[in-house]
Amino acid sequence: MTRNCPWNQCTFCSLYKGETFSRRPIEDVLRDVDTVKYYIDELQHAKNEGRPPSSIVLRTPEEEQAWCAAANFYSGGMRSIFLQDANSLIIKPEDMIRLLRHLRALFPNVERVTTYGRSNTIARISDEDMVAMAEAGLNRVHIGMESACDAVLARVKKGADKAAHIAAGLKVKGAGIQLSEYYIPGLGGRRLSREHALDTAEAMSRINPDYIRLRTLGLPAGAPLSEEYRRGEFDKMGEVETAAELLLFLENLEGVTSHIPYDHVLNLFQEVDGQLPEDRKKILTPIRSFLHLPAHEQMLFALGRRTHRMARLADLDNPALREPVERWCRETGATPENMDGLIDGIMQQFI
Ligand code: SF4
Repeated sequence: MTRNCPWNQCTFCSLYKGETFSRRPIEDVLRDVDTVKYYIDELQHAKNEGRPPSSIVLRTPEEEQAWCAAANFYSGGMRSIFLQDANSLIIKPEDMIRLLRHLRALFPNVERVTTYGRSNTIARISDEDMVAMAEAGLNRVHIGMESACDAVLARVKKGADKAAHIAAGLKVKGAGIQLSEYYIPGLGGRRLSREHALDTAEAMSRINPDYIRLRTLGLPAGAPLSEEYRRGEFDKMGEVETAAELLLFLENLEGVTSHIPYDHVLNLFQEVDGQLPEDRKKILTPIRSFLHLPAHEQMLFALGRRTHRMARLADLDNPALREPVERWCRETGATPENMDGLIDGIMQQFI
């Protein structure tokens, strides 16, 4: 629907840097949908006639691309659609509603239509338009809150403040659309860590999103914040301090019935995964346990996770998993004092 990000200024994000934002004409998008539908029908005919998918004639690279999209969608069961790019809700509500109705008419069995939206964009959409989008079939929105601390948001140039985050989140939920909100522990650095955790917990508690998704601050190449860190201008926290901030955030969620999924490989704690409030203890216990470990054990777990030798805290008690991490630490000269520098290097390779 759009190409790239219309904001493109967040300092921790490298995704669309150097790319230009543009909106695609809605007629082009509708034609894309029709083309995918055409190839899905062709795939179905081929199947009914016992022909292989490769029997479908493709004359141009564009047809090949549409066939690939259709084949992926078809083989995945055609249950969900994601509208891209970074902030599709920036298009005119009437165009969004037109597209949603078209999708639902062509693919009536799709269970979920999802998109990303920026809080400032959503806050400007009228309640009536948001409800109309929900009625047309939009049923999940992901918002990158990242923080609800105004000082952090200004520092990382998020282009939204706490009030806009809350207004946007409540608007999405008020329309009956499922809402995912993202939090990045450590985004405020050491100096703003406490406000970052508490303000974000307060905003999440006001919104009560369906999902709270945790994202580890990765500092990818090309992100301005990575350059600030390299120049010594960002007081990035290590694993232990970041875990303490995450605990503070989670402990301060009030009246929240969100699901907190473990859904990203860079997150330190696989066990931080469950439904609030019933899983509160299950979610908090691993972080508290980690923070109570001696420094050497914290190092073994953090490096075990980051080198994919360990998955859970209990793996520290498994000699078959622990011994290779201890050997790796001896060979690399890892200590509790230098482990965060080593982890930065590992994360860079991984990103
Ligand atoms: S984090 Fe999202 S809004 Fe910010 S620049 Fe990246 S894609 Fe755009």
